[in-house]
Amino acid sequence: MITLGIESTAHTLSIGIVKDGNVLSNIIDMYYAGNEGLIPRKLADHHSEVFAKVLSQALSSALLNMKKIDLISFSQGPGIGAPLSVGVAGAKYLAIRYKKPIIGVNHPYAHVKISEHSTKLNNPLVLYVSGGNTQILVERNGHYIVLGETLDIGIGNLFDSFARAIKLKHAHGSALEALAKGGKYVELPYTVKGLNLVFSGLLTKSEQLSVRTDIPHKDLAYSLMETAFSMTCEVAERALFLTNKKSLIVCGGVAQNKRLQQMLRLMCKEAGVNFGVAPDEFNRDNGAMIAYAGELLYKKYGGMVIEDCDPMTNYRIDQMNFVFRS
Ligand code: MG
Repeated sequence: MITLGIESTAHTLSIGIVKDGNVLSNIIDMYYAGNEGLIPRKLADHHSEVFAKVLSQALSSALLNMKKIDLISFSQGPGIGAPLSVGVAGAKYLAIRYKKPIIGVNHPYAHVKISEHSTKLNNPLVLYVSGGNTQILVERNGHYIVLGETLDIGIGNLFDSFARAIKLKHAHGSALEALAKGGKYVELPYTVKGLNLVFSGLLTKSEQLSVRTDIPHKDLAYSLMETAFSMTCEVAERALFLTNKKSLIVCGGVAQNKRLQQMLRLMCKEAGVNFGVAPDEFNRDNGAMIAYAGELLYKKYGGMVIEDCDPMTNYRIDQMNFVFRS
């Protein structure tokens, strides 16, 4: 079967096409927010402006037209309401216009499933790290449960917020990662509570120190990332020993960070478990993963009625067992 997937939860509008689990196309158009942060209305405007172009590129690079599509899949949440609504409206329109079945997909679930597929690791412990989320996940009876998570902000939000505070032109984790290269360690608050994490004290302290002239921003960027990643590794390691899992995957936007990958790889090696991470393309927000996960869910549960296809801005992965009842 051929599935078209639409992603629009935050800064990225992406449409991908998957045929029987294989990615045929994955067109990604990310809104550049500069230093002003993610303003919902501007994200929605961007997504509606590029929607038609991204759709036609996704179809043409897969050498297909809409008639050949068997299923419309869309990211249903969690996400920012305004941009999310654009993708949902687009999906509903295509489903009605071309008389196709439709299915809403939980965004973290899609990151997890495409990562399992591309790393070939079966039933691993999952570390999901992104702008809005930081969670340790495990699958039980076909559904994911959250073993531990951030008690305040997502790790990506921590990096973006600090990048904005020190006025980086491109206030994004990737720019902070570049700045951090060669930095020296400064002690910052380290807060782990069992399998849960707390990042806001770390952000506040870093912001306070950033106005001092004797500490270079490079050192703070380095120390902020080292501290946050060490905290994340600690909870992942504890969860590995508690669950006795033989593999760990990391996924989500922040999983692209090479330093985090290096720390997790080392921790897994010492723990004697396999480590896996998908190519960057699938850790960015992307439509192909939504198509891939949509196909899996459709085969298990069938399609949704259009009335159930509304955005769910706070849609947690552990709510999926209420949305999909077997
Ligand atoms: Mg994401």
